Amino acid sequence: MQFIEALKLRSKLLFLFLLITIGLISVAIMGTTYVNAMKRNIDSLYFGSLVPVTELNEILQKYHNGLADTLYKASRKEISTSEIIFNLEDSLDEINKKWKSYISHFKSEEEMEYVEYTNLEIKATNRYFQQILYAAKNGKDLTKISINTLEKKVAYIHRVLQKLINYEVSVAYYERKKFLHTYHTMMLRIGIILSVVILGILAVLLYVFRSIQKDHTQLEIAAKKLKIANKKLENASYTDSLTDLHNRRYFNFVYERELKRAKRNKTYITFMMLDIDYFKQYNDTYGHVEGDFALKSVAKVLKDTLKRPSDYVFRLGGEEFGVLLSETDESNSAKLSREICDAVRGRELRHEKSKVSDFVTISIGVVCCIADEALDDEILISRADEMLYEAKESGRDRYIITSNVSAATTKPMHEEVHRNAS
Ligand code: GH3
Ligand code: MG
Ligand code: MG
Repeated sequence: MQFIEALKLRSKLLFLFLLITIGLISVAIMGTTYVNAMKRNIDSLYFGSLVPVTELNEILQKYHNGLADTLYKASRKEISTSEIIFNLEDSLDEINKKWKSYISHFKSEEEMEYVEYTNLEIKATNRYFQQILYAAKNGKDLTKISINTLEKKVAYIHRVLQKLINYEVSVAYYERKKFLHTYHTMMLRIGIILSVVILGILAVLLYVFRSIQKDHTQLEIAAKKLKIANKKLENASYTDSLTDLHNRRYFNFVYERELKRAKRNKTYITFMMLDIDYFKQYNDTYGHVEGDFALKSVAKVLKDTLKRPSDYVFRLGGEEFGVLLSETDESNSAKLSREICDAVRGRELRHEKSKVSDFVTISIGVVCCIADEALDDEILISRADEMLYEAKESGRDRYIITSNVSAATTKPMHEEVHRNAS
C-alpha cells in the first residue's frame, strides 16, 4: 500500500478508476461463466431427461391410439381399408422417427443395454404391424385379426416402453437433484467469490480514498498557511516597520478610496499633515536611536488619540505623518488636532534644542471640507502641506486648519490658528 501513498492525486484517481473498472469486469466475467454453466445444466436436464420421456410417451401413445385402435376398428369394419393403411403407415413412421430421435440423445452404458433390448422389441412389434399393413394392402380381410395376439403384443411393448419411461423419469429426478445441488453450490461459490472481490476492492478503495482525503487535508492546510503568509506579506508591504503605522504605499491606496467614498456620499473628509519640530536638532543632540524612539512615541500618541475604525494614521516618510478622517466636521477635526499637539508635548520627551518648548512638539497642517465631485484629488494634500508650512512659519507646536480647498496656492483667508500654551 506504500505505493498508493507515493502516487500523485491525479494518479490516485486514475488508480481508483482502474480498480473499479477491473472490479466490474471481473464480476461480469464471473457472472457470464456461471450463467453459461447454468445453461449447460438446464440443457442437459431438458434434453437428457424431459425430451426423452416425452418422446417415449408419444411412441407409447402411437402404439395404443395409432396402431391398436386402428386394428380394433378394422376388426369391427368401422374404417375403410385406405384409412387403415394410412393410419398404420403414419403411426409406424412416427414411431420410427421418435425412436430414432430418442436413441440419438446421450445414453449411459447401463441404460444402453436396456435401450438395445427395447430396440429389438420395437422392431419385432413393428414387424408384426407391418405384416398386417402388407395384408391390408393386398386386400386381405382384417376382421379375422387375432385381437388376443394384438393385445398381447401391445401390452408387451407397453411394459417394455413403460420400463424405459420409468427409468428416464428416475434419471430426470436424479438429474434435477444433481442440478439443484450444483445450483446451490454454484450460488454459494458465486456469493463467496463476489464477497471476497467486493470486500477486497472496497478495502483498497477505502485506502485510496483515505489517502486522497489526507492529500486534500494537507492541501487545505497548505492553502491556509499560504493565505496567512500572503496576508502577512500584504500587511508587511502596507506597514511601516519602525512605528507599525500604515506606510506611504497604503496611504496612496486608502486616500484614493476614502476620497471617492466621501465624494460619492458628499460627506466630510479631513486630512492632516504632521511634522516633528526641530527634529534634525533632536537627532543631532540625542542620537538616531533616541530619534527613532521619539518617532515611535508620536506614532503611539496618534494611535491612542485616533481610535475610530475609519481613522487612518500613516507615516508618510522621515518624521512626517499623515492622518485621514471621514465624517468629521471642522470643529471635531480641530479638537483632535489640538489633542494630538497636547498629547505629543504631554509625553515630555526632553528637547533642549527646540526653540518653542522644552519637550518634543509637532506642527499640523489640517484641511477639512465636505467632498463633492468638483474637489480636486490632490488639493487636500497640497492644502494640508501649505497649512503645515503656515504652522511652522507662525511658530510651530500648533495646528492650522482650513476648509478652503478652492485656492490651493493663494494665501488662506479663513484658517484657524491654534497656538498651544507651553
Ligand atoms: P522643522 O521644525 O522645520 O520640521 O525642522 P526639522 O529639523 O524637523 O527639519 P526637517 O523636517 O527638515 O528634518 C527632518 C529630520 O528628521 C532629518 C532627519 O535627521 C530626521 N529623520 C528623518 N527620518 C528619520 C528616522 O527614521 N529616524 C530618525 N531618528 N530621524 C529621522
Ligand atoms: Mg520634515
Ligand atoms: Mg520636522
